[in-house]
Amino acid sequence: MLQTHINLVKKIQRFLPISDVVLEINKFAFMRLDNPNVQKWQYQQGPLYQKASLEEAVSEMQEHHCLFCKNTIDHYHHVVPQHKNGSNTIGNIVGLCAKHHDLVHKDTSWQEKLAKKKTGLNKRYGALSVLNQIIPALTKELSSLFPKHFFATNGKSTYDYRAAHGVSKEHWFDAYCIAGSVLPNDACDNNINNRVPYELKQFRRHDRRALHKENMSRVYTLNGKKVATNRHKAVEQATDSLEEFCQNHPDDVCKLKVKEHHPEYRNPKRNFPGCVFLVGKHTHVMQGTSGSHNGKADGYYDTNGNSYSSGKCKFVVKNEGIVFT
Ligand SMILES: [Zn+2]
Ligand SMILES: [Zn+2]
Repeated sequence: MLQTHINLVKKIQRFLPISDVVLEINKFAFMRLDNPNVQKWQYQQGPLYQKASLEEAVSEMQEHHCLFCKNTIDHYHHVVPQHKNGSNTIGNIVGLCAKHHDLVHKDTSWQEKLAKKKTGLNKRYGALSVLNQIIPALTKELSSLFPKHFFATNGKSTYDYRAAHGVSKEHWFDAYCIAGSVLPNDACDNNINNRVPYELKQFRRHDRRALHKENMSRVYTLNGKKVATNRHKAVEQATDSLEEFCQNHPDDVCKLKVKEHHPEYRNPKRNFPGCVFLVGKHTHVMQGTSGSHNGKADGYYDTNGNSYSSGKCKFVVKNEGIVFT
């Protein structure tokens, strides 16, 4: 999954001039992200600094109130003090109201309560999703591919940017809003809502049907009549195989003739899904053929489901695998 993401970036990079990469990650992954090469960014606030976001993360984790009561947080307190080698990470920091902060400092039983409660809280947020698990590796990789040009943002930035510029809710604008939210000059395409997306489509890499035709159907005849097909029965074969014929008619085996083998090779140069064709001045990506005579397609339909007669289609690119449409 990690490599899929990286490969996609590299693939797009081959034909679009990518200068910066912005990754939107959920708020917990965002706050836990601890990589100096990653620029954490928030719309209209710019880069976020580690110290500010640590406390913010703790506050978020505790839903913005004291660990023990509903009062607001007055102090950020290290569970294991830093002079005793406690770490300066959100796993070791709690937010406390003035009253509870006081109790924790004066009363060892409150310190125990605190440690227990914090451990439970850490466990709850430590249960990371599959996607969260690849985020540290993904951010590391992308930040080394785009040194100083890799940003991490959270959903709030995307949401705020979208709201500020009235960008439509269609999912393909998400990427636009994610990227736009880190622009220092707060730019936005005035015509953004009328733009159409590039789509990635996976076409099959190998022509299974061509391979299939090539290997199958050796026909055996007896007095000009087809009596068996193939030495061994092929999957889904209804007629007898040579093997079966020999068992059932041992005396006739010597009279069998192998029908001359005329495999219907598919033209390897033919057009297959993923190819790009022109109709007039417009480009289409072929999805399939619509009917054929003597191995020639009558027409082609594109990825939008529109059909064109083959005479009108001028093929320009043969593609396979992932194609942008
Ligand atoms: Zn409290
Ligand atoms: Zn304290």
